[in-house]
Amino acid sequence: MALTPIPFTAEDFRARMRRAALDASAEGLDGMLVTPGPDLLWLTGYQPTAITERLTLLVLGTDADPRLLVPELERPDAESAVGSEVVTISDWRDGDDPYEVAGRLLDPTASYAVSDSTWAMHLLGLQRLLDGAQFYSVTERLPMLRAVKDENELARMAAAGAAADAVFGEIVKTRFSGRKETDVAADLARLLREFGHEQVDFTVVGSGPNGANPHHEAGDRTILTGDMVVLDFGGLMYGYGSDTSRTVCVGEPTSQMREVHDIVRAAQQAAFEAVRPGVECQEIDRTARRVITEAGYGERFIHRTGHGIGMTTHEPPYMVAGEERPTVPGMCFSIEPGIYIPGSFGVRIEDIVTVTADGGKRFNNTDRGLVIVE
Ligand code: ZN
Ligand code: ZN
Ligand code: ZN
Repeated sequence: MALTPIPFTAEDFRARMRRAALDASAEGLDGMLVTPGPDLLWLTGYQPTAITERLTLLVLGTDADPRLLVPELERPDAESAVGSEVVTISDWRDGDDPYEVAGRLLDPTASYAVSDSTWAMHLLGLQRLLDGAQFYSVTERLPMLRAVKDENELARMAAAGAAADAVFGEIVKTRFSGRKETDVAADLARLLREFGHEQVDFTVVGSGPNGANPHHEAGDRTILTGDMVVLDFGGLMYGYGSDTSRTVCVGEPTSQMREVHDIVRAAQQAAFEAVRPGVECQEIDRTARRVITEAGYGERFIHRTGHGIGMTTHEPPYMVAGEERPTVPGMCFSIEPGIYIPGSFGVRIEDIVTVTADGGKRFNNTDRGLVIVE
């Protein structure tokens, strides 16, 4: 891909940590505790090469500068990944009680949001030591932490989407009939890497009746002429996610296949047109669902319309009934309605969409019509 991403700067990370601390404070919390995972990577640019049983802990609060506690042997790597102008690093040595060392950085009566990727053993260790403190899940209290992307992040999301589109452009030129789902899935994985992904997260190939199970990945079923095939694939490129679905037909579709595909396409289009700043996430779900329900297939649309995406391929916000949070420019999420006819076939069409001041903008732009493959 043409884009070479601009590295995130120390100022980007400082601003993110400041905002996280302020958001926690606005939520009535004293701070945030972050262990290795997407939150730590987003906040500091640091991802330990091995996520180990040894405690690595970032402490954010409005009362003090960010502090990062690392195992002594990880300190050189941590210092080269996160400059001292970004965070104050301290360490603990094998043989120390890491929770006791961490306790010196913490307020024993405070309330903290804790990143969801924190291992239970670490949280239990902190709870044992700080029995007057309270701990809450980041996803429960600060779900929008990483939801709004800046220009640099959006450029990476756009590149990941364009790469996924290039993969679709290639896969439809290959033969489907007579090959196994796993063969097509292997091609998708190889193409994602060829077009620049550093990580492949999923390659769904749901042929015929397998397409009616939205969580089917790929199995050893041989694809036949006359099958509908749900393709849903994605991963990470420049650290940001792609996720797109198209449903193709091997040879000529039946009239029911065409009808169902048209309905899903109309639902996807309607939901896309509903995107604008300030609209509730659940309204995007409702819009897609209305089209499918009015066409008589409401019972066959068995999942939410979409999920947020960024440094992970599934994250808040969710386009689902009950999600009243409004969309905000810079948010990125999927719009992926589907209809699933048990024992027969499924259809899903999915694009990643970002919110702009004027409405939605798609990062996936391949043909949403029913593509016929061999
Ligand atoms: Zn799922
Ligand atoms: Zn998907
Ligand atoms: Zn998705």
